[in-house]
Amino acid sequence: MADLQTVVVIGGGQAAGWIVKTLRKEGFDGRLVMIADEIHLPYERPPLSKAVLAGEADIDTVRIVDHDAFAELNVEAWQPECATSIDRDARIVRTASGREVQYDRLVIATGGAARRLPDAMVKTSHLAYLRTLDDAVHIGKRLRESHSKRLVVIGGGWIGLEVAATARKLGVDVTVIEGAPRLCGRSVPESVSAFLLKLHRNHGVDVRLNASLASLEDNQQGVRALLADGTFVDADFAVAGIGLKPHTAVAESAGIECNDGIVVDEFGATNDEHVFACGDVANHPNAWLKRRVRLESWANAQNQAIATARAVLGARTPYAEIPWFWSDQYDVNLQILGDVPPGATPVVRGDLDARRASLFFFEGDVLRGVIAINATRDLKVAKKWMSQGRAVDIATLADTAKALA
Ligand code: NAP
Repeated sequence: MADLQTVVVIGGGQAAGWIVKTLRKEGFDGRLVMIADEIHLPYERPPLSKAVLAGEADIDTVRIVDHDAFAELNVEAWQPECATSIDRDARIVRTASGREVQYDRLVIATGGAARRLPDAMVKTSHLAYLRTLDDAVHIGKRLRESHSKRLVVIGGGWIGLEVAATARKLGVDVTVIEGAPRLCGRSVPESVSAFLLKLHRNHGVDVRLNASLASLEDNQQGVRALLADGTFVDADFAVAGIGLKPHTAVAESAGIECNDGIVVDEFGATNDEHVFACGDVANHPNAWLKRRVRLESWANAQNQAIATARAVLGARTPYAEIPWFWSDQYDVNLQILGDVPPGATPVVRGDLDARRASLFFFEGDVLRGVIAINATRDLKVAKKWMSQGRAVDIATLADTAKALA
């Protein structure tokens, strides 16, 4: 593209990393500026709540590209730096330290921040949130300190459960406080919530459901979580995993359309033809789900970024991946593929109690989604069927005596 001399990327996470990698791989040899508020080069988040907490991984192991490979990409990395405004008429991004850069195309991959408990509720410094590598290193150190033997986790979602599982492995006593009647209630059906509850309780986690947190206060040893019913939990420190708030402020104040994230089309383009967005912050029309969605997952951050980088260069291939997500807790690998409405009744193959099962979600005889628990092979077969749009014999699916393929 003749008019494409400078591409600016705001953000330095996984999506931003894949934008700069893909732009260079696809032959863009112009100026490439990445503005990111963290000091680290782009890294992957899945290990943060597991290997990094356990002290088994650090920036060298979780990085998307190592220093030398990043140097070869010839990216001007403005780090740590915060983009504060976008002048869309002049096509200029300005930063907190007073720098500015003019762009031909801008990609916003700002992700989000951990949702925070209301200030009025928090009367302690023994509380941490897990979003960044530095957060994970800090929490990991506390978990591994000899005097930190009790952890209270606020939120029974994916962060909360993965932190709880890692903490148990490190020998820490864990209480999980979840406001809803079941775990991960927004993303899995009742039977999987019950499975996760049993899994954690069997590993010694004290899980409190329907537990409304009133406040977190200092006590002599660390922190006391007071619940609305008058009971309390004492711990050395607390970690809250209560969701993600997408970073849309810079886009919004520039008049870029936002609605639960930055609104983009299937190519990652916003309502401004010079501005794109991808990753956790982007609300996109998902071809498989047949609705708009903002996905907060590793696979989406990578693959949507690749499609968006290509679109920036003028190659318009719609982003149409089937959503995929996984979580590792203890000896359980749980994967979710496609559309799994939390209220739907799946066809079950295998045995949840034996910790090996696949749950299949149908629309008529068309497979729309799968949850695979220690059943990667089932997931792979199902993915093939889903990609082919093949009709499935539901009656025989649950019969484990018959091979799935
Ligand atoms: P999440 O999965 O949305 O879970 C947050 C949980 O906290 C929900 O169950 C929520 O209940 C509950 N909650 C909210 N406010 C609460 C309160 N005041 N007291 C007690 N419970 C409360 O979010 P997350 O665990 O923070 O994770 C953030 C993002 O990172 C998510 O998108 C997640 O999918 C992603 N992530 C992915 C992985 C992975 O790929 N393996 C791992 C970790 C995180 P309600 O739903 O009722 O509000």
